[in-house]
Amino acid sequence: MSLTNAEFDVSEIHWLMDMFQTVDVGLVVLNSDYRIQVWNGFMESHSGLTPRQVRERYLFDLFPEIDEQWLRRKCDPVILLKNRAFTIWEQRPYIFKFKNYRPITGSAEYMYQNSTIFPLTDTRGQVTHLCIIIYDVTDAAVSRTELESMNGRLQQLSKTDFLTQLSTRGHWEDALIQEFNRLQRYSQHHSTLLMCDIDHFKRVNDTYGHTAGDEVIRKVADVIKANIRTTDLAGRYGGEEFAILLVDTSLEQAQCLAERIRQQVAILAISYNKMVLNVTISLGLAERDVGMQEHRHWIEAADNALYQSKVDGRNKVTCYSSEPA
Ligand code: GH3
Ligand code: MG
Ligand code: MG
Repeated sequence: MSLTNAEFDVSEIHWLMDMFQTVDVGLVVLNSDYRIQVWNGFMESHSGLTPRQVRERYLFDLFPEIDEQWLRRKCDPVILLKNRAFTIWEQRPYIFKFKNYRPITGSAEYMYQNSTIFPLTDTRGQVTHLCIIIYDVTDAAVSRTELESMNGRLQQLSKTDFLTQLSTRGHWEDALIQEFNRLQRYSQHHSTLLMCDIDHFKRVNDTYGHTAGDEVIRKVADVIKANIRTTDLAGRYGGEEFAILLVDTSLEQAQCLAERIRQQVAILAISYNKMVLNVTISLGLAERDVGMQEHRHWIEAADNALYQSKVDGRNKVTCYSSEPA
């Protein structure tokens, strides 16, 4: 059976209406006074308002949560210049405040929306109406937002050492580079680097096991944390090595602090499996010197001082000096 031309036109309109009702985007037509003319099935099911209930209603009366000034600023050029306009969820999460019912993206309370706004012209080419297409982009918006917060969390994790909650070496060294560069610009400032290493730590592991060793590392880190200021930055530099950036601290001030940390560790009684363990640490200090060209020269200086403490019998504080002893 074939359709006559007239029958075809009628069915075509019928099909178009079907598609218009069931398509998974919102379609809204407004006249130039912002009164609603057309409202498709998507808009009906999400707003709970039928086409009959919204017809000829002023958009901003019916939906007071829409920022009128903002939307008019988008729509006016569409009417005047026959331009298209777009809104994206990153700017404003939505135009119409619809509850989000999607099971997968249940974490979003409201439907995130992008929209396209374009002019509708009459037979003479005059813009008489506006069409707004509403796209539900909740899935994409939620996964992006979650990804961003996950990235932030990962970044935070990679800044913090799991065992000690001190900075990781990478994060600590980044901060050191920044401080080094700052001191290049403000040469009247003094900052000092403190490196320390647990003495004969292999023995702790060998005698009491690796978990005992971990507990020792944690307790030594706690002593460091308890003694530094919030502006200082302590990092876990290696297995049982720590590096502490003492900001705006001279070598003399740092020496007092290093000595205090050394003594507190030496008297620390670390309980592990009903045993009590004791350790000592060796420390090295270096103040930033104008002769240091790169931040690693600063680290090397503190490391040399630390090495000297080991050579001199451990459980000691040594200050780096650029002049030969
Ligand atoms: P020294 O006084 O010269 O520093 O002697 P040491 O035994 O401490 O020597 P060294 O610093 O070379 O040894 C470090 C040991 O620390 C080697 C490694 O097995 C152990 N270690 C490194 N990281 C960890 C860790 O996260 N947990 C534990 N339990 N041990 C670690
Ligand atoms: Mg070591
Ligand atoms: Mg050691």
